[in-house]
Amino acid sequence: MVKQTIQIFARVKPPVRKHPQGIYSIDEDEKLIPSLEIIVPRDLADGFVNNKRESYKFKFQRIFDQDANQEIIFENIAKPVAESFLAGYNGTIFAYGQTGSGKTFTITGGAERYSDRGIIPRTLSYIFEQLQKDSSKIYTTHISYLEIYNECGHDLLDPRHEASSLEDLPKVTILEDPDQNIHLKNLSLHQATTEEEALNLLFLGDTNRMIAETPMNQASTRSHCIFTVHLSSKEPGSATIRHAKLHLVDLAGSERVAKTGVGGHLLTEAKYINLSLHYLEQVIIALSEKHRSHIPYRNSMMTSVLRDSLGGNCMTTMIATLSLEKRNLDESISTCRFAQRVALIKNEAVLNEEIDPRLIIKRLQKEIQELKDELAMVTGEPRTEALTEAELLQLEKLITSFLEDQDPESRLEVGADMRKIHHCFHHLKKLLNDKKILGNSTVSSESKDQDCQEPLKEEEYRKLQDILKQRDNEINILVNMLKKEKKKVQEALYLPAKGRHEFRHSQSPPFPPGNPEEGQRMLLSSAPSQAQDFSTLGYRSSLLHKKTGMREEMSLGRQEAFEIFKRDHADSVTIDDNKQILKQRFSEAKALGESINEARSKIGHLKEEITQRHIQQVALGISENMAMPPTPDQQEEKLRSQLEEEKRRYKTMFTRLKALKVEIEHLQLLMDKAKVKLQKEFEVWWAEEATNLQVNSPAVNSLDHKKPFLQTSDSQRELSQLLSNKSSGGREVQGQGVGRFAACDVNARKILPSPCPSPPSQKQTSTSTSTPLEDSIPERPVSSIPLTGDSQTDSDILAFIKARQSILQRKCLGSN
Ligand code: ADP
Ligand code: MG
Repeated sequence: MVKQTIQIFARVKPPVRKHPQGIYSIDEDEKLIPSLEIIVPRDLADGFVNNKRESYKFKFQRIFDQDANQEIIFENIAKPVAESFLAGYNGTIFAYGQTGSGKTFTITGGAERYSDRGIIPRTLSYIFEQLQKDSSKIYTTHISYLEIYNECGHDLLDPRHEASSLEDLPKVTILEDPDQNIHLKNLSLHQATTEEEALNLLFLGDTNRMIAETPMNQASTRSHCIFTVHLSSKEPGSATIRHAKLHLVDLAGSERVAKTGVGGHLLTEAKYINLSLHYLEQVIIALSEKHRSHIPYRNSMMTSVLRDSLGGNCMTTMIATLSLEKRNLDESISTCRFAQRVALIKNEAVLNEEIDPRLIIKRLQKEIQELKDELAMVTGEPRTEALTEAELLQLEKLITSFLEDQDPESRLEVGADMRKIHHCFHHLKKLLNDKKILGNSTVSSESKDQDCQEPLKEEEYRKLQDILKQRDNEINILVNMLKKEKKKVQEALYLPAKGRHEFRHSQSPPFPPGNPEEGQRMLLSSAPSQAQDFSTLGYRSSLLHKKTGMREEMSLGRQEAFEIFKRDHADSVTIDDNKQILKQRFSEAKALGESINEARSKIGHLKEEITQRHIQQVALGISENMAMPPTPDQQEEKLRSQLEEEKRRYKTMFTRLKALKVEIEHLQLLMDKAKVKLQKEFEVWWAEEATNLQVNSPAVNSLDHKKPFLQTSDSQRELSQLLSNKSSGGREVQGQGVGRFAACDVNARKILPSPCPSPPSQKQTSTSTSTPLEDSIPERPVSSIPLTGDSQTDSDILAFIKARQSILQRKCLGSN
């Protein structure tokens, strides 16, 4: 058993803008316990924080300042937890802090660079590396990924669901067994045999989480995510299994509800997070107070799930993430205060060992068989479960003569066979019962005859009944098995077909343009021994591209809009950068693959040469009739050292290729994720645009929320020309027009992630001559108005635009 308080660490996030010096200081020398001092400037000390203290000091196991990179965080915080997890202890790492302080960055990692990968991918990498090294045990690894939002649990890894909102994901509920163990109903566990498979699951969950998030439920800041690795290990032949769980937890933002200042629906959510974190705080307070017998774990889902991590059988670590900017000081102080309380909690981690009942049954069955065999050898008769007919008949006879024998000394001898002894007792009991029923009447010879036959029938009847019962059971089991098999077959038939289909469409984005599968093939052909590992790429793609399949259903206009949206999106730079890096890595991998092949064939040649040399030496020895040359052959020595050198080179290159493979895989996953994000943002923007378009019927004059989307196309130019030629006046409209553009620009920035092309000055002049009627014309060219993809809505929009055009033209011609 390991007794340990929860370890607390602090991580300070680099500021977005350079913030004033002297807000905090880190003291590393204080008797080896470092402390963080937060200094509240005088101007803030009056109102912002209620009392007038100016500095607050908090102790942490270690404090990581802004320059600490992800590798340092992993090595110092996560690696020790992963090590004890591998030894069989439960572990938890959770990040706590206000929104934007770097919780997700720390736990999962940044979405852009490979070097930014966080604790989860690094820990997975470390775990699988260690498992591979240890061949003394049989390990099984499973992954689950749970999101808790508004006190509801959702499974982020359910393969049957395409999540477009959180509600689409299966609801996870808590069950408690009589021993008060918590079970999560509906949370799927997925076996992961390699690092790649585990990473795929992480990305699948993150993608589901991102897709399920809407602007109304900023789930990423308001929900808790628990990524769990389940490990079981067993020594070959042993019946003892060790289980351990590692929870990696990204908590909801810890900001207070009062400060968020939101109303309506959002307030409910904010209250909920607070409620959830509030219950976490209550549990932590209860645990940190001595002599508290009741700990209110059951108040919320999160505390129930993390019950073992808090004051239980677990080694737990907390990372307080801090964004130490002036406006965040009160939140940072409250994060540190929370950490100080957490540090008081003592956990007791034990090895979770369990005897596998199946193995015990097997062992007992073997023992029984051995005993039976022994018995058969001693008695000279094979021993079966039941007595044979002949044996039964023999017994009946013995019993009858025993009962009939008047000699009080007579004995019923059936031998040392428990089956026979039991049968005799059973039979006697039956006789006694029958006699009771018949009363004290004397047993006539007739009834005696009956008695002799009746038990036999009864016995047979019981036996038949038993057999019937057994058959019934067998049939039930078989039916269940059949059902399961059928389901499996259906799934197998369904999945590969789907996977194949998606795979076809899935390759292009992650690879450099023009060489999607080629890149993979190059890699495969250049490093044949790696083929097995690379095949998981397809699995990943099919998983992720379930989410991006909507592209091909787009109408042409919508595709065009998407291309432009993509081009102008801030993330496209990252995607392009990653594409470049990926390209480089691919060519590096290809070159490495070639060198590895070269090295391999060189090794082959060298071995061959050494063998040849040996044969020559032996032949020489025989022909000259003398033993092998006593001095080592210099030529052979040289060949051997060359061989060693070549082997070393091969090994180095192979290790590098392996690392490259992991990096390539990770980069591809990052790009997939970025692509899904882009697509999602486009869909949101698209839906907003479509609604706006419908809301603005001809009767509505204002198009204030419209944004100038694309450059003026021919058709629009024609239309505006037509209007400016035909229309007259428009004093008050001019004002509206200018105002409209001002508003439009602001809103456009809000909608599009990157600044949209600002309205050309010619537009301003065109508005100066516009009419009220013109104000209702969409600012976008008809051809570029993106369609929704829903044919019904699309045709509605088109019909609407056409109708409006014809009204315009008619009016213009009329005024002429
Ligand atoms: P949270 O999950 O706490 O809301 P995030 O992890 O999303 O916060 O971080 C907010 C932003 O700050 C992200 O863009 C993230 O990349 C960046 N960030 C956070 N921590 C760091 C860090 N240590 N180094 C660099 N960037 C960081
Ligand atoms: Mg986050």
